[in-house]
Amino acid sequence: MLPPDLIIEDGTLLTMVEGERPIHHATVLIQGDKIADILSAGEKRPYFKGAEVLDAKDSIIMPGLVNAHGHTAMTLFRGLADDLPLKQWLFEKIFPAEAKYLNPETVYWGVLLGCIEMIASGTTTVSDGYFYQDATARAFQKAGLRALLAQGVIDFPAPGVPDPTQNLVVGKEFIERWANVSELIRPGLFCHSLTTCSDRTLQEAMKISEDFSLPLQLHLSETQEEVGEVIHRSGKRPVPHLDHLGLLSESLIGVHAVHLDDEEIEILARNKVGIVHCPQSNMKLASGMARVTEMLKKGLLLGLGTDGCASNNTLDLFKEMDTAAKLAKVSTLDPVSLGAATVLKMATVWGAKILGLEKETGTIEVGKKADILTVDLRKPHLAPLYHAFSTMVYSASGADVKDVIVNGRVLMKDRNFTGLDVEEVMAKVQEISEKIRTNATV
Ligand SMILES: [Zn+2]
Repeated sequence: MLPPDLIIEDGTLLTMVEGERPIHHATVLIQGDKIADILSAGEKRPYFKGAEVLDAKDSIIMPGLVNAHGHTAMTLFRGLADDLPLKQWLFEKIFPAEAKYLNPETVYWGVLLGCIEMIASGTTTVSDGYFYQDATARAFQKAGLRALLAQGVIDFPAPGVPDPTQNLVVGKEFIERWANVSELIRPGLFCHSLTTCSDRTLQEAMKISEDFSLPLQLHLSETQEEVGEVIHRSGKRPVPHLDHLGLLSESLIGVHAVHLDDEEIEILARNKVGIVHCPQSNMKLASGMARVTEMLKKGLLLGLGTDGCASNNTLDLFKEMDTAAKLAKVSTLDPVSLGAATVLKMATVWGAKILGLEKETGTIEVGKKADILTVDLRKPHLAPLYHAFSTMVYSASGADVKDVIVNGRVLMKDRNFTGLDVEEVMAKVQEISEKIRTNATV
């Protein structure tokens, strides 16, 4: 083989490949953007001159995390309006703030802040749905993360799309502009919800997505109120309504899916719809508890997302994993529900699959892209180590991540950023937040 460019040496490797146990004293060799070889204990690696070596002794090596749903630029509104009902929070606080303060410049800096936070907590792939997505894509390119970036589609005036009749034109043009720009960036569409997008908008958005072989994201049955509105309008619950419109397939990503009845879970499973669970957002907005255990039993594929920063208020997927596992247990009164290994799959391999990126990322396997994180275990709150999956889900936090590699490129080494100027980004966001702060009405 050709000599590697990067070596991650002597750690406990969680490949996240189905059925594989942790591999102790493993070394991962990376050539260019790909994983070239995995050496296990006892396999002496040859000396490679010139390769960068990351020491993973007493560390976990695992796939970078996949944040399967978010609105990255909403870091700008972190903590602006908390402890409110969803509808009031969205229509009285967030939508007005977005209308007033979002523009390509503010979105760019807000996204960079989110990217810094996500890299610092081990996320390497992000699914984002928002507005001014050209600015979002430029910021993701700068940050070096892998991303599915979707133009937000909503049937009323939106940031950057004042005329809602043009929402799909704007979306399609965004896809065309970014379809072949970078192997790390995949464009797409994100329909806000069944109550803010008409049936026709949803159907046309799906047609455009399928034409480009891209998934379509949709907030689905997030609140009881939303379900009631759909029933009132269509005479059907949301999932049968989507089925009636011909929108259920592997191309659809249903986000939240909190309020589903048994029949809806069956229909979603039958149509292989990917579901993204956002437990902290659902808890904070008191939307409810998604029936994760039942969905998994029916064979649905689930990923994990932080949702936007204004409804969480963090982008740390380690916290999200811990919450997902515990919420599943408390909602079923069953401590066996959603074990640590399963929740780690949601945050890695299953999330990648839902986004259509399973060939590239989500596991550590020879031939896949090198999207990897390490966690330093030499800390009191991570000792001793009995079960690596449990330690990662229940004890670790994003702050314990040491190194982050995306596409073979080291983005964070020993918690130092290699390409981003954190001070500059924080100063820019501080400037923007001062303007938001002075307007007390939002
Ligand atoms: Zn969302």
